[in-house]
This record gives sequence, C-alpha cells and structure tokens, in this order.
Amino acid sequence: QTLFLSLSLQAKMSRPVQARRLEGTDKNIWVEFVKLAATYSTVNLGQGFPDFPPPDFLKEVFVRALSGENHMLHQYTRAFGHPPLVKILAQFFGKLLERDLDPMTNVMVTVGAYQALFCCFQAFVDEDDEVIIIEPFFDCYEPMVKMAGGTPVFVPLRLKAPKDGKLMSSADWQLDPAELASKFSERTKAIVLNSPNNPLGKVFSRGELELIADLCVKHDVLCISDEVYEWLVYDGKEHIRIASLRGMWDRTVIIGSAGKTFSATGWKVGWTVGPNRLLQHLRTVHQNSVYHCATVAQEAVAQGFQREFELYGKPDSYFVQLPKELQQKRDWLVQRLDAVGMKPIIPEGTYFLVADISEFKSDVPDVPDSDEPYDSRFAKWMVKNKGLAAIPLSAFYCGAHKNNYNHFIRFCFAKEEATLEAANDILQKWKREKTSA
Ligand code: PMP
Repeated sequence: QTLFLSLSLQAKMSRPVQARRLEGTDKNIWVEFVKLAATYSTVNLGQGFPDFPPPDFLKEVFVRALSGENHMLHQYTRAFGHPPLVKILAQFFGKLLERDLDPMTNVMVTVGAYQALFCCFQAFVDEDDEVIIIEPFFDCYEPMVKMAGGTPVFVPLRLKAPKDGKLMSSADWQLDPAELASKFSERTKAIVLNSPNNPLGKVFSRGELELIADLCVKHDVLCISDEVYEWLVYDGKEHIRIASLRGMWDRTVIIGSAGKTFSATGWKVGWTVGPNRLLQHLRTVHQNSVYHCATVAQEAVAQGFQREFELYGKPDSYFVQLPKELQQKRDWLVQRLDAVGMKPIIPEGTYFLVADISEFKSDVPDVPDSDEPYDSRFAKWMVKNKGLAAIPLSAFYCGAHKNNYNHFIRFCFAKEEATLEAANDILQKWKREKTSA
C-alpha cells in the first residue's frame, strides 16, 4: 500500500498545466450571470436571447430538413459552408453591398458569430499587434485578442451630459474623433466595430463610420465588423455597412448570426463575408479547428434566407416584422422603466437597453474600496433579492475602466409580453416599497 501511495504521489503532475495565453481570461461574465439567473431569477432579462419562438417557417424548414428524404443532411457538408447557404448568403449580401460575391470565396459559415470572431483574431493578430476596441464592447473581444497574442487598445464612447428632463438616447454615446485618432499607430492591425452595438443599442451614423473608415485607410488597418444585430434598428434608422464605404471592402470582414437574425440563438449558425484575400486566412483557422458546422441547421438557415431574399423589404419579411415587434417592446419597457425612475437610455438598435440605477442606490449601498464595480454588486443583489436578472454595464469594459460607468444595467427586451409584464411588476412593487419606506 505504501508503494502504491508513493507511486501515485509520483504520478501527480507538478508542472503548470495552463498555457500562458490563457492568463487572465478564465473569468466569463456569461458563465457567472447565467448561473445566478438560473439559481435566483424569476424573470430573466439578462442574457441576450429571445424567449419567444423563431418564426414558424424556419422551424418548419428545419423539421423538413431533419426528417426529409435527403439523409445526406445528417452527414458532413462542405467545410467552409453548406453550398446552399453560402450561395444564398452571397446573393443576399451581394444585393445589400451592390457587389458580385463568390459563394465559395467571399462567404464562410461559422459556429455562430463567436467562432467568426475567433477565426478573425487568430487569422490576423500576431504577437505585439494592437487591436482597437470601442468601449463598451461585447466582452469576448478582449480575451480573444489576448489569446491570439495581441494587445487590445480601448477607446471609449463617451456619454454626453444629460439634457434636463429628457430621456437620453444611445446616440448620445459618442467617440471623440481626436481620441480615436490617437489610438491608431503602426502597431494597429485591426479595429473591431460593433454596430448596432451591444450593450448600448447604438447605431453608428454615416459620419461616425466615415471617421473610422478614413483612419483605417490612412493607417492600413483591418476592420472586423460585428453586425449581428443588423436587422434590429428602430425609428426608421438605417444600418450602414462599413464595408460599403470607400476603401473599406478590401479590409473588412462582416460578421453575422442566424441566432440574432432569426431568433434562434441555440442553432449557432454564423457567417463571415469579405474579400478572398482576408477570408482565405479565416478558412485556414476554420479547417484546422472547427472544420465544419451542423449541416441540418445550415440547410434550414439557407431556406430561411431564400424566403427573406424573395420577400426583401416587403411587409411579410421577418427582417421587417421582427424590428417592428421589438420596437414596440422597447417603447413599452422604456416607458415602464422611466415611470419607476430607472432612467432608460433609448436604444436605436439591438434588443438591449441600459438603464440608470442611481435612484435605487439606497437599497444597495456602496461598499467603498470594493474591487467589484457597483453595478455588478447591484445586479447580483437584484437577482438574489428581487428575482430580476440583468447584466451590469461594467461587464462590457476592460479591467481598468470598469468604474467609468458603473451605475447602469443592461436589460434584454426580446421577451414575451408576459415576461416583460412580470419584470415590470417586480419594478413597480420595488418602487412602492421604496416610497413607503
Ligand atoms: N457579437 C455580439 C455583439 C453579440 O451580442 C453576440 C451574442 N450575444 C455574438 C457576437 C455571438 O453571436 P452567436 O450567438 O451567433 O455566436
């Protein structure tokens, strides 16, 4: 037995097992807050997914693909994208971008937009390269740049001073042109643009996109353009694709997601669109890592896009109907949040909005010198004590900037009426308790 014990002690590994490139990337806001929401929440407006079903036509084509005659849909398909899907994506985006796209070289299908982002950073970023990230940002950009060996360089959207009595808009978050220009150097390899932006819902204007585009051209920088919320724009606003601006097609990878586009986040079908000189390197990463995405889901998304291509711009198009429905939900939630004093910032796009929690601070007192930003403690307190899940805005800032705007939380309003009503009930009750206390 002693011999066995000493052998097993010897067998225990003592060398470090974690690769250096993982340092500092082990925490993940979604893992943490999804668990909290699952444990405590009765109403979940946290993570960004609809709790309503995808459109019937999409579910039907999936079922047909799954149980139909073509059993090859259960097998591998082309590594870089199922042919019917890349074909219709090339047609669809060709029309939007007014350019001929080759399905085989200008489009690549990925496991959600997440993998598209991962491929971009792995394919383009070398040790010591810098990548500009606009804050607040979808959190995975930072660890993905770091894992590729690069250095993220942050530039903030700054919130203009509030106008008395008026609700603010996501358009009030703006880049300072001089500050943005100061971040570009000969080490800059790429900038990540996310319009419409998660978490603010900001839809970048043509002027703002031209500013970014001019700097990319001047400094010969790539643009990784995360456009997963491209159809979710409100009040007649236009989503402008930066790749359509002068000098940008050649240096831009557009990233999209069927999860967001068709309200089916669990399918994990995403894509990249861009010039072959960029996509050829994404294919290298893809073929040596994921290699292939689920065929049936790709087939269903292909048929969904085929339908949308035929109905483009028409009232029956899902890309017309979904934003219409979401705009109503946005307006409803904006009004309810405003009524309880959790001042919302009206989003121009996406299915998120951020709201100011300052008036609720007395319930969750500040802990001076705490390492955790106030909004994070507030969101945790809220889910545990009120059963309402939301995401702190500080989660969308890098470590050094987490306290720059730490009195906002992000709500997702892509929810059934009953869910939104239940959230409102919690907030109203909370407000009544506050007033009577
Ligand atoms: N980019 C942004 C801005 C997102 O909000 C998300 C999902 N929340 C993704 C990418 C990832 O999308 P997918 O689910 O298609 O991987």
